[in-house]
Parts: sequence; C-alpha cells; structure tokens
Amino acid sequence: MPGTKRKCKSITGIGVAPGIAIGKAFHVDNDEIPIVTYRLERESQVKEEIERFKSAVKQTEGDLEAIKKNLPKEFRDHASILDTYLMILKDHMIYNETIETIKKQKINAEWALKQAILTTGRVFESIDDDYIRSRISDIRYVGDRIFRHLAGMGTPKVNCNKERVIIVAHDLSPADAAQIQLEKVMAFVTDLGGSTSHTSIIARSLNIPAVVGLKNVTDQASNGDIMIVDGIEGKVIIDPDEDTIARYYEKQSEYENYIKTIIRSAHERAETLDGHKIKVEANIEMLEEIVAVFDNGAEGIGLYRTEFLYMNRDDVPSEDELFNTYSELAELIAPKTVNIRTLDLGADKFLLTSGKLREESNPALGLRSIRLCLKEEELFFTQLRAILRASSAYRNIRIIFPMISGMEELLQAKAILSRAKKSLERDGIDFDENIPLGLMMEVPAAVAIADMLAREVDFFSIGTNDLIQYTLAIDRVSEHVAHLYEPLHPAVLRSIKQIVDAGHRNGIPVSICGEMAGEPFYLPILLGFGLNSLSMTPGAIPRIKNMIRNIKLSEAREFTQKALELTTAEDIISYLQDLMDKRFSNIFAFLNPPAPIFS
Ligand code: PEP
Ligand code: MG
Repeated sequence: MPGTKRKCKSITGIGVAPGIAIGKAFHVDNDEIPIVTYRLERESQVKEEIERFKSAVKQTEGDLEAIKKNLPKEFRDHASILDTYLMILKDHMIYNETIETIKKQKINAEWALKQAILTTGRVFESIDDDYIRSRISDIRYVGDRIFRHLAGMGTPKVNCNKERVIIVAHDLSPADAAQIQLEKVMAFVTDLGGSTSHTSIIARSLNIPAVVGLKNVTDQASNGDIMIVDGIEGKVIIDPDEDTIARYYEKQSEYENYIKTIIRSAHERAETLDGHKIKVEANIEMLEEIVAVFDNGAEGIGLYRTEFLYMNRDDVPSEDELFNTYSELAELIAPKTVNIRTLDLGADKFLLTSGKLREESNPALGLRSIRLCLKEEELFFTQLRAILRASSAYRNIRIIFPMISGMEELLQAKAILSRAKKSLERDGIDFDENIPLGLMMEVPAAVAIADMLAREVDFFSIGTNDLIQYTLAIDRVSEHVAHLYEPLHPAVLRSIKQIVDAGHRNGIPVSICGEMAGEPFYLPILLGFGLNSLSMTPGAIPRIKNMIRNIKLSEAREFTQKALELTTAEDIISYLQDLMDKRFSNIFAFLNPPAPIFS
C-alpha cells in the first residue's frame, strides 16, 4: 500500500512448539511497575511500612493460592512452580531481609525489597548450580507481584483481549499463562526461554505454536502489530508485507493438512511399507495423561514413571494409595498393557522431603533409582506389593526395573519381588503370577552384559536419556554440556545395537522409551535396529506412526547398517539429513529440527 511501508522485521529465536500463526501482537506484561524510594522519618512510619509490606506479601500469597486452586486442567503438570513461588514469598532472604532493611535503614518497602532481590540474585548467581540459578527468575517474578501490590496495581491483567491474539511477553510463567484464556491464544513469543522452559513445555502440551529466546521481541513488537509466528523454524516476522503473509498462509495450510493427515491415521497400527508392524506406545507420569494416550492412538503405555506420586509431600504413599492408582490405570488402559516402572527417584527427579534422599555432589551417580530401592527395601517392597495386587484384575501390568547396572542388583531386586509375591500368597491376595518383568537398559555396564541380563527378564526397554548421559559422561540436565549430548554418537548407536541383538538372541522383545524414540529425525535409524516397539510422549505418536508408514524396514536396516560404519556423529547426522531430505522432504519441512534432547 502506498505510504504504509512495512517493517517486515524478522527475528530468529528457538521454535519450541511447531505450527504457524498469523495475527495481532498482544503484550501481557507491558505495564511498568514504578519503584519509588523514600526515607521514613518516624518510628511509627517504620511500623506502618513493615505492615504495608506484610500486607502486599499476603495479597500476593492470596493471588498465587487462587491461581493454584483454579488452575485449568491443562496446567496441572505445572502446579509445582506455584508452590515454589509460595515458598519464595516467605523465604528469609527475601521476607526477613526486606523487613530488616526497612527497620535498619528506615527506608520504604519497595526499596528494601529491591535490595533483598538484588542481593539474593547476586548470591544465587555465584553458585555453580543451574537449578539454583534458574530460581533467580522465579524470585524476580514473585518480587514483581509484591511490587504491584505495593504500588496498588493489583494483579496483572492478562485476560483483557477480545480477539484471538499472539501473546508477546518477556517471559511467561505458568502462573501468568494459567490466567490467559487459551482459546484466545494463537501463539506465544517471548524474549527469554529455551526448549525446556515452562512456556515451551506448556505450549507443546497445548499444541500452540511458540518461539522463545527472541531476546527483544517485547521491544520490537507493539500491541496490535501484525505478526507471523513460525514455530517450525523458530522465526517471528513483525509487520510483514503482503507477499510474506501470503507465503505463510500457504505454509500454514500445508502444515495443517499434514497435521490432519497424521491425526486421522493416529489410531491405525503403524506398519512399514514392507509390512512390518511396530508397536507405538506412550510414556506417562500421571493418570491424567490417559486422555492424551487415547487421543493420540497409543497402543499401550510403554513407560509409566511412578515417581510423581512421591513428589511434593512429606510422607510416602501407602500400599493402598499406590494400589488404587495402579488399578485405575490398569482398568483404563485394558486390554492394552501398561509397563509400570518401579521408583526411579533421585538425580534430576526432585527430592523427597521425607529425607530419604540427601544432597550429593554427583546425584546422577549417587543413591538413586534401584539403588535407593534396594537400600530402602520397605519402600520398594510396598510398591511391588501394590503393583502385584493391581495386576490381578486385568493381567495387563508389566514391571520394569530402572537403572540396573549389574546382575547382583537385578537378582536382589528379583528376590524382593519374590518376597512380595510370597507375602501376598500368605495373605490370600490374588495377583498375576506370570507378571512380565523388564529392565530399563540405561547404564553402560548393563549394556556390556546385556546377553547375561537378557536371560533373567522378559523384555528390555532402552532408556536413551540416561544411556546417552552415562555413555558420553554428559549431564543430561546441564545446559553447559547440552551441545555435547549427542544421541547419534557412534558409541550410543553401538550400545543400542548391542542391546537389541542381545535381547533378540535370547528371544525377548526390545523397545526404546527415551526421548529419542519420539523424535522423527531419529526414526529411520532406530527402525533399522529392528526394535519391537517405541514408547514416547503421547503428542509425538501420530507423526512417528505416520513416518513408520512411509518407510520400508529393509531400507531402514540398510541405512542403519551403513550409519554404524561411520566414525563421527557429524557424519551420521549429515547421512541422516540426506535421507530425510530425499525420503521425507514433504514431512520434514514441518518438523522442528532436532533440539538437544534432555528431559
Ligand atoms: C531414560 O532414561 O531414557 C528414561 C526413559 O527414563 P527417565 O527419563 O525417566 O530417566
Ligand atoms: Mg532413565
């Protein structure tokens, strides 16, 4: 249009949830909070100021409690962040320090709180721990909420949009996101964040396109600006010209057609072009995910991570509580099967407040998982009895032991399982006496003796998240070494081959349930190993099934054979990239490039 020159400004970030949105920008956090400073002249003012601060904290607490109580079901997985915020509110480094500063320096609450936040931030920044450092943004978030109340601004308004919009934010906490009417959101774009940040996880689970880590999108885009969000390529275009808009409408419609196709066929079995059926199952952490399991066409639950029932509580769940949950799950999924993995607590899987886990300098190598279970035998015994009792009704439960590193461990764990079975027999309680037992293959020592272990169990499930971590000595949750966390490292591929071959030679099926299984880029190479099944986050199932239907197993085998001869991950990646471009160019255009995988 004459006289209306478009900015057509393109910014690149990280595409964390695929899809394309074209719409108007809407800032959710664009109102500045004024931080005033003034001295308090009289003792009575000091008292009043402390009361004013306490009241702002109380109001903030009320807001957060209300958000927690009314959390939409889509956000339940993220509820723990609200507990973190509530804890920060009363943390002595913030709460007591602010009060002390008001008293000692006779200064207003805003200034005292700002000092406390800055000091805490500096302390946290100096600690060499990513988890602690990532708490700084949580502290700032809570601080902002208190500032708002001190300034009489109330709670931030994020719900005033009348039409569907693209949410533009500096960062988006689950507490903010939970207050947005999701049906009004076309996409999320933020200055901060990475692929594992809260916004990204939420956007993926809600299937809303998102680009994060854009650095300054909040400065670049004004309210009402037309924007294109390309969650596939991690790009945002502000104020695009007509040609660009037309091009993206086309890309959007191609993407939507692709999604429709894969969703339509999600419930059919996945069979390669040359007639080999691959079972595609779901990984879940909570019972609530069962809807996603059904919606996405999972053929069973390949991995139920049981840790989450032990989270955020001071006690340990009773046998009956566990039994009720496992029974409900077995009933919901029947006649399909569910693999219940026994407790894998420790390392990145939070800490028990009951004191069973202690701080360790190397938690991933410490008292975690099966080691903890063998030490805390009653904890393990109780869980095994609950699983066995739940197996009675539908005979569709299978047990998996995590992180086994040697025969001694496996035999000890099996002995406790036998003890649990005997105790149920004594009590006259029914259970599936042929309940299948599997092993997570995720420790290099287990890979080295895979043939021996295979004789003791009914199936193997490869946990690539940990297998990569332990094989390459790369902490799976450290951003500093994330670039070295390479699923296609020849050592990882050889380990997978060794496990599959050992399993098959001993007549047991082998699956993969690590994140790698749900990443389309790795599918051809994984198929070529001859795996019997794959288990993944439910949302990944339709596209993986779709890809399986577009490839021949013979072709994948040949491909994997050749990949195993290459000596560097780089060569394997470009070999795979070539295959993807040739064979899957129509699909591959719609997939996020494989981001570093760590969960
Ligand atoms: C794995 O290690 O690959 C796995 C599936 O288990 P988790 O991610 O729960 O450790
Ligand atoms: Mg694991």
